[in-house]
Amino acid sequence: MMEEEIRTRLNQCGFKATPQRMRVYAAMCRLGHASADALYHFLGGASSTMSLATVYNVLESLTEAGLLVQRPSFSNKMFFDVNTAPHGHIYRQDSQEITDFTDESLRQAVEARVREMLPEGLALDRVEVQVVCHAVHSPQAEQVES
Ligand SMILES: [Zn+2]
Repeated sequence: MMEEEIRTRLNQCGFKATPQRMRVYAAMCRLGHASADALYHFLGGASSTMSLATVYNVLESLTEAGLLVQRPSFSNKMFFDVNTAPHGHIYRQDSQEITDFTDESLRQAVEARVREMLPEGLALDRVEVQVVCHAVHSPQAEQVES
């Protein structure tokens, strides 16, 4: 997303396109997914001009503006996502990498099943498919590497 587009989007939501918001959004575009902590470290941590609380507040306002989506994470931390369209995630426990995947028929199938089993009095907001995995080391793969 171009700088001007981000500025327009923020303005439309009643937010000023402050340098902090622009900087945080640009960093999120590079990372794709990040928790407030991870983004804070990406921006320089303690040597950054932004405190962790500021980074968090900026992430919240970008989420309100519809530029980011906040998602429950694999490791008890919320993370922010620049891809606001419905999609699933593949999380690698060993490297903590998060990769997007889109499988609309899988999402719809899970959603249909969840609607059937949802306890009375609850309404479904959305279905997010999260796959947790780790790399396996096969002897053949190691031979190829060496
Ligand atoms: Zn994503």
